Amino acid sequence: MKSIRRTTGRGLHSLVTERRSVDLGGITVDLLRIGTFRSDAGAIFGPVPQETWAPMVASELDARSRLLQALNILHVSDASGGVLLETGAVPAGTRVSNADTDSRSARDALIASGLDVERITTIVPSHLHRDHAGGLVDQHGAAAFPRAEIVAPDREIAAVASGSLRARAAYDVAALTRLFTAKPPRSFDGSLDLTPTITLRRLGGHTPGSQATIVRGRERTLLFLGDLFMRPWQANPRWVTSYDDEAWVSVDAKASIFAEAAAGEWLVAMSHEVQAPLGRITADAGRFRFVSE
Ligand SMILES: [Zn+2]
Repeated sequence: MKSIRRTTGRGLHSLVTERRSVDLGGITVDLLRIGTFRSDAGAIFGPVPQETWAPMVASELDARSRLLQALNILHVSDASGGVLLETGAVPAGTRVSNADTDSRSARDALIASGLDVERITTIVPSHLHRDHAGGLVDQHGAAAFPRAEIVAPDREIAAVASGSLRARAAYDVAALTRLFTAKPPRSFDGSLDLTPTITLRRLGGHTPGSQATIVRGRERTLLFLGDLFMRPWQANPRWVTSYDDEAWVSVDAKASIFAEAAAGEWLVAMSHEVQAPLGRITADAGRFRFVSE
């Protein structure tokens, strides 16, 4: 890695996008925090007792026991084009600013940051929950990035269409069904070499089709796990959220890929971390630890 560059940042609630650029060697990754939202802390910590987690996040909790969560997206680019990981919660052309969520859309944030959205060939949401797939569409429900292909594991697409009450609460089924009818996504099972340098791997756990994205630069590799790794304490594989559909799958998937990340000294990006979303995983007495960079 040649550099991590921080270009803007004006406080946690500002709609000014915070951007960090990383050169992996021939591949540039821009991590953009396009907004924030509040989320119940107990649900984020899942099986962890409150007396354990409360002191860790005391300064972050609001009066309703909620954490401040970032909406992070990653733009990966090389000479052949751009790939967008995540699209946030908000449709293109709209903004949300209320007591719970303060965000602009992924498309608008990318443009405001000077990134060329017309070069984006592929969109890879880590999974299709509302806070990751909301920006796939514009305010009219049409594709926010009409030229780009959307790539998702077939099990994630099936989960959206499953009719499950849990799925209907977590996914915007109507919007995704309309979008996928007009613009069918590319789906895969297992893993997919999206480009010579980007590999997608379906892990499941958080949702049936939660996927890892592995970007291999000449100098360094970057790993993005979506909500399997949203905040730094989840470096302990057993610390999963209440939103994980298959917690036991999450635990084993994290333990396995964290071992790879630690051995390779991969750069790891987190989906909802506000302050320090980039760092590396280190092995720590049979568990793992996150060290920010
Ligand atoms: Zn999320």
